[in-house]
Amino acid sequence: MNLPQPSATSTTTVRNLGILAHVDAGKTTVTERILYLTGATHKRGEVHDGTTVTDFDPQERDRGITIFAAAVSCEWDGHRINLIDTPGHVDFADEVERSLRVLDGAVAVFDAVAGVEPQSESVWRQADRHGVPRIAFVNKLDRAGADLDTAVASIRDRLHPAPLVVQLPIGREDGFTGVVDLVTMRALVWDGDTCAEGPVPDDLADEARRRRRVLEESVAELHAAALDEYCARSFLSEGTLTAALRGVTLGGEGLVVLCGSAYRNRGVEPLLRAVVAYLPSPSDVPPVRGTHAGEEQRRPAEPRAPFAGLVFKVNSTATGRLTYVRVYSGTIRKGDTVLDTGARRTERVGRILRVQADRHAEVGRAAAGEIVALVGLRNARAGATLCDPSAPLVLEPPAVAAAVVSVA
Ligand code: GDP
Repeated sequence: MNLPQPSATSTTTVRNLGILAHVDAGKTTVTERILYLTGATHKRGEVHDGTTVTDFDPQERDRGITIFAAAVSCEWDGHRINLIDTPGHVDFADEVERSLRVLDGAVAVFDAVAGVEPQSESVWRQADRHGVPRIAFVNKLDRAGADLDTAVASIRDRLHPAPLVVQLPIGREDGFTGVVDLVTMRALVWDGDTCAEGPVPDDLADEARRRRRVLEESVAELHAAALDEYCARSFLSEGTLTAALRGVTLGGEGLVVLCGSAYRNRGVEPLLRAVVAYLPSPSDVPPVRGTHAGEEQRRPAEPRAPFAGLVFKVNSTATGRLTYVRVYSGTIRKGDTVLDTGARRTERVGRILRVQADRHAEVGRAAAGEIVALVGLRNARAGATLCDPSAPLVLEPPAVAAAVVSVA
């Protein structure tokens, strides 16, 4: 189906986002809610009746777990968010690895009752190896026995020494209705799908102030500019706090933690705001590295540089063979001839699609930082580098980066 051309985006307004989770933590539900809120789907899928839009492969529906990564594009607040689904099942570690390569940032979803589970830990370590900046979403706060502080303690003990909790839940378990945003010091309360913003409730005012202070002190310990301001004024302005949270997220020194209940659609808009505010755009990450004729090259996320992209998934669909590509540098256009450096052959790009859940939008080109599906390539496999034939490049194989880190 051809949809209207999506609005143009610059590299800085793109977020290539992965959602990492243990099976059952709520990754599919979070994805669904994001797609719903951003208007990519107008009908809510429900996991239990098999109608979710990201899991459109029948085998996935049958098995009830996300087996194949799917990249889905949506727009939020002037930003394009490309959601790269990463399998949470341990049997699909290779596929997780491949999707981690093309992400710039990720949301790690935890179950508020179970906390950190073994698979959350293994996916977390994989993301560490790839240097993927992350924020955390403690989901299922509506469940009996859910407790944000306990879940955060398990994150601190097992994954990250510096969790930075930016919300205070309003109500517990079945009575969980919203959050106090500790950055803006405003309350967000949900009634059905409607979110009302207002002052912090009186009975939570002291606790919210106390937690804001803890947040400021923790951030000041990790971030030089925040420390300077904190020492000079004994508090952090909202602007400094936000900038410092972004800084420590990109540097990996701190982990921003949000919470909610994706199932009840509570906390997903603030999560999207945090994705845009704290996680990197393609231009925030280092230039991709590759080799040609034994020489290392770096290619910036620059639309006018020679084209280079990585195939991270190939899918046979009713539309044809879809070759999912992360464009790292340059621009790819419909009709271009590209070189597959692994197979050492050229192929012609028939169409370029932006995949939106179960629909496709055809676009004329895709620039550095974008994730699109190409139609018309017959041979390219997952892991292949596609590039401008006049500027050949093989993108660094993931095993190299992983091996270097594990040896170090
Ligand atoms: P995934 O395996 O990580 O993709 O998890 P799913 O999104 O499939 O969710 C697993 C189960 O937890 C499903 O039955 C969901 O309906 C349920 N679930 C997801 N989010 C929440 C939540 O916020 N609260 C509650 N109570 N259940 C949830």
